[in-house]
Amino acid sequence: MIEKKELTEFTKEELFEEIKNIGEKSFRAKQIWQWIYFRGITDIMEMSNLSLSLRQKLAENYTITRPKIITEQISIDKTHKWLLEFKDGERVEMVYIPEKDRGAVCISTQVGCAMGCKFCHTGSQKFTRNLTVSEIVGQFMVARDAYKEWPSPINETRYLSNIVVMGMGEPLNNLDNVVKALNIITDGDGIAISRRRVTMSTSGIAPRIVEALQKTGVRLAVSLHAPNNTVRSQIMPINDKFKIEEVMKACQEYQKGDHSRYITFEYLMLKDLNDNKQHAKELISLLKSYKLKATFNLIPFNPWPGCGFTPSNPKTVEEFSKTLEDAGFAAPVRVARGQDILAACGQLKSKNKEK
Ligand code: SAH
Ligand code: SF4
Repeated sequence: MIEKKELTEFTKEELFEEIKNIGEKSFRAKQIWQWIYFRGITDIMEMSNLSLSLRQKLAENYTITRPKIITEQISIDKTHKWLLEFKDGERVEMVYIPEKDRGAVCISTQVGCAMGCKFCHTGSQKFTRNLTVSEIVGQFMVARDAYKEWPSPINETRYLSNIVVMGMGEPLNNLDNVVKALNIITDGDGIAISRRRVTMSTSGIAPRIVEALQKTGVRLAVSLHAPNNTVRSQIMPINDKFKIEEVMKACQEYQKGDHSRYITFEYLMLKDLNDNKQHAKELISLLKSYKLKATFNLIPFNPWPGCGFTPSNPKTVEEFSKTLEDAGFAAPVRVARGQDILAACGQLKSKNKEK
């Protein structure tokens, strides 16, 4: 038996092409798209405005699969974490971080990560593979199923209002699939999350930054974590390949096109490593020398068993933040969420496959 094709693997253009190739009119593709991404159905036979014979033909050749939920945990602060499994048994974690009347879903782009950042739990696990388009989109659809946000609600009433591509993996190392997935998620006839509400975080794959943003139109966050190459190379091996200067130049290039676009620099606060006043000052002159419009996001380090780093003490973090703010940069300290269920930033790690 031939394996059925996954409908959520197609971009909109590809779906139109596919439907044309099986001899159907193109408005059928639009109807199918809306069933999948606006209504959220997973059973092709429910596509009631298609003829029975077309539904049967589709069901014989195609399928709509969600990642399988293996475990689910809800933290005392309502942060929701899922362990999801794909068809081949590989697993990733996804997190939903609710605010009062909205919230962000944190999605993964790879199983494991090859970048090996020293402070990251995902990075301590070896890279296994890239996620497919359908696996990336499927994560968000699982969250929508859970919060019953089908059909796609209008913006103001959305509980799952934002997406952060900050789960497991380096998105720019899986660029083709990430671009396709984000274009599906932000398409106005379907899931319709606005591009402004999607933030993609990268460890700094400099040559792909501009391309990634041009092709998706989403917001950029850069994991900087150090004010100079010496410190950054100690904690992020990728810095030996793409130095801070290259990353900064790419950010500059990106802002050339649209000055309204602020870049968020994520900065992990590691005790005695990158958290003193001199580091803050160095950081300020770095950003000023490249004339970047930027905000900082100071992240308290979330320890995990065996990590070997210590979080900066809260007073140091406050002082660091104040130094940056006195220089004119917004520098809020991120509140760690879901710590009791190990759902906070950098703590995601898929459990081993079941044998
Ligand atoms: N690979 C991308 C996106 C996923 S990591 C990147 O590195 O940007 C998302 C964010 O979590 C990054 O800023 C990362 O540096 C941060 N992070 C990693 N480990 C962490 C930890 N233990 N505590 C807090 N933040 C961490
Ligand atoms: Fe990969 Fe990001 Fe973790 Fe670094 S911080 S190992 S790039 S997931």
